[in-house]
Amino acid sequence: MSGSSDAVEYLESLALFEEDIYLPRKNLVVPQAERSPKSLRVLNGAVEPLPESLSAFEKQICECTRCELGKTRTKFVFGDGSQHARIVFVGEAPGHDEDHTGIPFVGRAGQLLNEMLAEIGLDRKEVYICNTLKCRPPGNRDPLPSEKETCRPYLRTQLSLISPDIVVCLGKHAANELLGTDEPMKDLRGRVIPWEGMQLLVTYHPAYFLRNMTQKVHGDADFKLLRKLYDQLP
Ligand code: SF4
Repeated sequence: MSGSSDAVEYLESLALFEEDIYLPRKNLVVPQAERSPKSLRVLNGAVEPLPESLSAFEKQICECTRCELGKTRTKFVFGDGSQHARIVFVGEAPGHDEDHTGIPFVGRAGQLLNEMLAEIGLDRKEVYICNTLKCRPPGNRDPLPSEKETCRPYLRTQLSLISPDIVVCLGKHAANELLGTDEPMKDLRGRVIPWEGMQLLVTYHPAYFLRNMTQKVHGDADFKLLRKLYDQLP
Protein backbone atom coordinates (compact mmCIF):
# COMPACT_ATOMS: atom_id res chain seq x y z
CA MET A 1 0.00 0.00 0.00
CA SER A 2 1.34 3.43 -0.92
CA GLY A 3 2.06 6.17 1.57
CA SER A 4 -0.74 8.36 0.16
CA SER A 5 -3.40 5.62 0.45
CA ASP A 6 -2.20 4.99 4.02
CA ALA A 7 -2.74 8.68 4.72
CA VAL A 8 -6.23 8.58 3.16
CA GLU A 9 -7.11 5.53 5.27
CA TYR A 10 -5.81 7.27 8.36
CA LEU A 11 -7.85 10.41 7.64
CA GLU A 12 -10.96 8.31 7.00
CA SER A 13 -10.52 6.48 10.29
CA LEU A 14 -10.11 9.83 12.05
CA ALA A 15 -13.34 11.02 10.46
CA LEU A 16 -15.13 7.89 11.67
CA PHE A 17 -13.66 8.36 15.11
CA GLU A 18 -14.80 11.98 15.23
CA GLU A 19 -18.28 10.95 14.15
CA ASP A 20 -18.39 8.70 17.19
CA ILE A 21 -17.31 11.53 19.45
CA TYR A 22 -19.67 14.15 18.08
CA LEU A 23 -22.78 12.01 17.74
CA PRO A 24 -25.77 14.17 18.65
CA ARG A 25 -27.40 13.32 21.96
CA LYS A 26 -29.60 10.31 21.35
CA ASN A 27 -33.29 10.30 22.11
CA LEU A 28 -34.27 8.68 25.36
CA VAL A 29 -37.64 7.92 23.89
CA VAL A 30 -37.72 5.33 21.13
CA PRO A 31 -41.16 4.68 19.60
CA GLN A 32 -42.17 1.09 20.36
CA ALA A 33 -42.92 0.57 16.69
CA GLU A 34 -39.25 1.21 15.89
CA ARG A 35 -38.04 -1.46 18.28
CA SER A 36 -37.64 -5.09 17.46
CA PRO A 37 -40.75 -7.02 18.62
CA LYS A 38 -38.31 -9.24 20.51
CA SER A 39 -37.35 -6.26 22.66
CA LEU A 40 -40.86 -6.13 24.13
CA ARG A 41 -40.47 -8.19 27.25
CA VAL A 42 -43.46 -9.75 28.96
CA LEU A 43 -42.28 -10.13 32.52
CA ASN A 44 -43.16 -13.00 34.72
CA GLY A 45 -46.23 -12.05 36.75
CA ALA A 46 -47.46 -9.41 34.29
CA VAL A 47 -51.17 -9.19 33.49
CA GLU A 48 -51.74 -11.19 30.30
CA PRO A 49 -52.85 -10.45 27.68
CA LEU A 50 -51.17 -7.07 27.98
CA PRO A 51 -53.40 -3.98 27.75
CA GLU A 52 -52.95 -1.95 24.58
CA SER A 53 -51.21 0.96 26.33
CA LEU A 54 -50.14 2.32 29.70
CA SER A 55 -53.08 4.71 29.77
CA ALA A 56 -55.50 1.87 29.01
CA PHE A 57 -53.91 -0.13 31.82
CA GLU A 58 -54.18 2.81 34.23
CA LYS A 59 -57.90 3.13 33.46
CA GLN A 60 -58.27 -0.59 34.01
CA ILE A 61 -56.76 -0.62 37.53
CA CYS A 62 -57.15 2.91 38.92
CA GLU A 63 -60.01 1.94 41.22
CA CYS A 64 -58.27 -1.14 42.56
CA THR A 65 -59.14 -2.25 46.07
CA ARG A 66 -57.47 -5.65 45.94
CA CYS A 67 -55.61 -4.87 49.16
CA GLU A 68 -56.47 -2.75 52.19
CA LEU A 69 -54.43 0.22 50.90
CA GLY A 70 -57.13 0.80 48.31
CA LYS A 71 -59.47 1.79 51.13
CA THR A 72 -57.12 4.25 52.87
CA ARG A 73 -55.48 6.02 49.91
CA THR A 74 -56.47 9.53 48.84
CA LYS A 75 -55.33 9.04 45.22
CA PHE A 76 -54.14 6.10 43.19
CA VAL A 77 -50.55 6.79 41.98
CA PHE A 78 -49.94 4.93 38.74
CA GLY A 79 -46.74 6.42 37.28
CA ASP A 80 -45.38 9.39 35.36
CA GLY A 81 -43.56 9.62 32.04
CA SER A 82 -43.44 8.18 28.57
CA GLN A 83 -44.49 4.65 27.61
CA HIS A 84 -41.48 4.69 25.30
CA ALA A 85 -38.87 5.66 27.90
CA ARG A 86 -35.64 3.68 27.87
CA ILE A 87 -35.07 4.24 31.59
CA VAL A 88 -37.60 3.42 34.32
CA PHE A 89 -37.15 4.46 37.97
CA VAL A 90 -38.95 2.37 40.57
CA GLY A 91 -39.48 3.66 44.10
CA GLU A 92 -41.22 2.01 47.02
CA ALA A 93 -44.68 3.49 47.54
CA PRO A 94 -46.44 6.87 47.34
CA GLY A 95 -45.83 9.27 50.23
CA HIS A 96 -47.98 12.12 51.53
CA ASP A 97 -47.53 14.47 48.55
CA GLU A 98 -47.97 11.68 46.00
CA ASP A 99 -51.10 10.45 47.76
CA HIS A 100 -52.60 13.94 47.45
CA THR A 101 -51.57 14.65 43.85
CA GLY A 102 -51.72 11.18 42.27
CA ILE A 103 -48.22 11.75 40.79
CA PRO A 104 -45.10 9.88 41.94
CA PHE A 105 -42.04 11.73 43.29
CA VAL A 106 -43.49 15.23 43.56
CA GLY A 107 -42.38 16.22 47.07
CA ARG A 108 -38.89 17.21 48.21
CA ALA A 109 -37.53 13.78 47.29
CA GLY A 110 -39.02 14.16 43.82
CA GLN A 111 -37.43 17.58 43.46
CA LEU A 112 -34.06 16.10 44.38
CA LEU A 113 -34.57 13.28 41.87
CA ASN A 114 -35.27 15.88 39.17
CA GLU A 115 -32.07 17.72 40.12
CA MET A 116 -29.99 14.55 40.05
CA LEU A 117 -31.39 13.74 36.60
CA ALA A 118 -30.52 17.25 35.40
CA GLU A 119 -26.98 16.83 36.74
CA ILE A 120 -26.43 13.96 34.28
CA GLY A 121 -28.18 15.76 31.43
CA LEU A 122 -31.51 13.94 31.60
CA ASP A 123 -34.98 15.38 31.88
CA ARG A 124 -37.74 13.81 33.96
CA LYS A 125 -40.07 13.90 30.93
CA GLU A 126 -37.73 11.52 29.11
CA VAL A 127 -37.84 8.75 31.71
CA TYR A 128 -40.65 6.87 33.46
CA ILE A 129 -41.13 6.95 37.23
CA CYS A 130 -43.33 4.68 39.30
CA ASN A 131 -43.48 2.72 42.56
CA THR A 132 -43.79 -0.90 43.55
CA LEU A 133 -47.14 -0.05 45.22
CA LYS A 134 -49.73 2.24 43.72
CA CYS A 135 -51.34 3.32 47.01
CA ARG A 136 -49.86 4.95 50.10
CA PRO A 137 -49.41 2.83 53.20
CA PRO A 138 -50.92 4.84 56.11
CA GLY A 139 -48.33 6.93 57.94
CA ASN A 140 -45.70 5.82 55.39
CA ARG A 141 -45.31 2.46 57.16
CA ASP A 142 -43.46 -0.31 55.31
CA PRO A 143 -45.69 -2.21 52.88
CA LEU A 144 -46.84 -5.60 54.12
CA PRO A 145 -45.67 -8.69 52.21
CA SER A 146 -49.30 -9.42 51.24
CA GLU A 147 -49.71 -5.88 49.82
CA LYS A 148 -46.53 -6.22 47.79
CA GLU A 149 -47.61 -9.56 46.42
CA THR A 150 -51.07 -8.29 45.48
CA CYS A 151 -49.73 -5.22 43.71
CA ARG A 152 -46.78 -7.00 42.03
CA PRO A 153 -48.46 -7.82 38.67
CA TYR A 154 -49.22 -4.12 38.13
CA LEU A 155 -45.56 -3.07 38.15
CA ARG A 156 -44.64 -6.08 36.03
CA THR A 157 -47.25 -5.11 33.47
CA GLN A 158 -46.02 -1.49 33.41
CA LEU A 159 -42.48 -2.70 32.79
CA SER A 160 -43.67 -5.12 30.11
CA LEU A 161 -45.55 -2.33 28.31
CA ILE A 162 -42.64 0.11 28.50
CA SER A 163 -39.96 -2.53 27.87
CA PRO A 164 -37.12 -0.23 28.99
CA ASP A 165 -33.43 -0.92 28.57
CA ILE A 166 -32.50 0.19 32.09
CA VAL A 167 -34.39 -0.09 35.39
CA VAL A 168 -33.20 1.93 38.39
CA CYS A 169 -34.39 0.83 41.82
CA LEU A 170 -34.62 3.74 44.23
CA GLY A 171 -34.09 2.25 47.66
CA LYS A 172 -33.93 -1.12 49.32
CA HIS A 173 -37.63 -1.95 49.09
CA ALA A 174 -37.73 -1.53 45.31
CA ALA A 175 -34.50 -3.51 44.90
CA ASN A 176 -35.70 -6.29 47.16
CA GLU A 177 -39.05 -6.41 45.37
CA LEU A 178 -37.58 -6.72 41.87
CA LEU A 179 -34.54 -8.84 42.68
CA GLY A 180 -36.18 -10.98 45.35
CA THR A 181 -33.14 -10.57 47.57
CA ASP A 182 -32.47 -9.24 51.05
CA GLU A 183 -28.95 -8.09 50.23
CA PRO A 184 -28.05 -4.77 51.86
CA MET A 185 -27.88 -1.61 49.78
CA LYS A 186 -24.12 -1.32 50.13
CA ASP A 187 -23.76 -4.65 48.28
CA LEU A 188 -26.37 -3.88 45.62
CA ARG A 189 -25.51 -0.36 44.55
CA GLY A 190 -22.73 0.53 42.11
CA ARG A 191 -23.28 -2.68 40.09
CA VAL A 192 -24.98 -3.34 36.77
CA ILE A 193 -27.25 -6.31 37.39
CA PRO A 194 -28.69 -8.22 34.41
CA TRP A 195 -32.43 -8.63 35.12
CA GLU A 196 -35.19 -9.98 32.89
CA GLY A 197 -33.34 -8.93 29.73
CA MET A 198 -32.65 -5.44 31.06
CA GLN A 199 -29.86 -3.73 32.96
CA LEU A 200 -30.77 -2.97 36.55
CA LEU A 201 -29.11 -0.45 38.84
CA VAL A 202 -29.77 0.08 42.52
CA THR A 203 -29.27 3.36 44.32
CA TYR A 204 -30.58 4.99 47.47
CA HIS A 205 -34.00 6.61 47.60
CA PRO A 206 -33.66 10.41 47.26
CA ALA A 207 -35.46 10.77 50.63
CA TYR A 208 -32.42 9.07 52.18
CA PHE A 209 -30.15 11.80 50.78
CA LEU A 210 -32.45 14.48 52.21
CA ARG A 211 -31.77 12.99 55.64
CA ASN A 212 -28.06 12.25 54.97
CA MET A 213 -26.73 14.75 52.46
CA THR A 214 -23.15 13.52 52.98
CA GLN A 215 -24.22 10.20 51.42
CA LYS A 216 -25.37 11.86 48.19
CA VAL A 217 -21.89 11.29 46.80
CA HIS A 218 -22.93 7.63 46.34
CA GLY A 219 -26.06 8.68 44.50
CA ASP A 220 -24.01 10.95 42.26
CA ALA A 221 -21.71 8.03 41.40
CA ASP A 222 -24.71 5.79 40.68
CA PHE A 223 -26.27 8.41 38.40
CA LYS A 224 -22.96 8.80 36.55
CA LEU A 225 -22.99 5.04 36.00
CA LEU A 226 -26.56 5.35 34.73
CA ARG A 227 -25.51 8.02 32.24
CA LYS A 228 -22.62 5.82 31.09
CA LEU A 229 -24.95 2.85 30.56
CA TYR A 230 -27.40 5.05 28.71
CA ASP A 231 -24.65 6.37 26.43
CA GLN A 232 -23.70 2.80 25.59
CA LEU A 233 -27.22 1.82 24.51
CA PRO A 234 -27.50 0.97 20.82
S1 SF4 B 1 -51.67 -1.07 46.62
FE1 SF4 B 1 -51.92 -2.07 44.63
S2 SF4 B 1 -53.12 -3.93 45.04
FE2 SF4 B 1 -53.36 -2.55 46.81
S3 SF4 B 1 -55.23 -1.41 46.37
FE3 SF4 B 1 -53.50 -0.19 45.64
S4 SF4 B 1 -53.30 -0.74 43.47
FE4 SF4 B 1 -54.57 -2.32 44.44
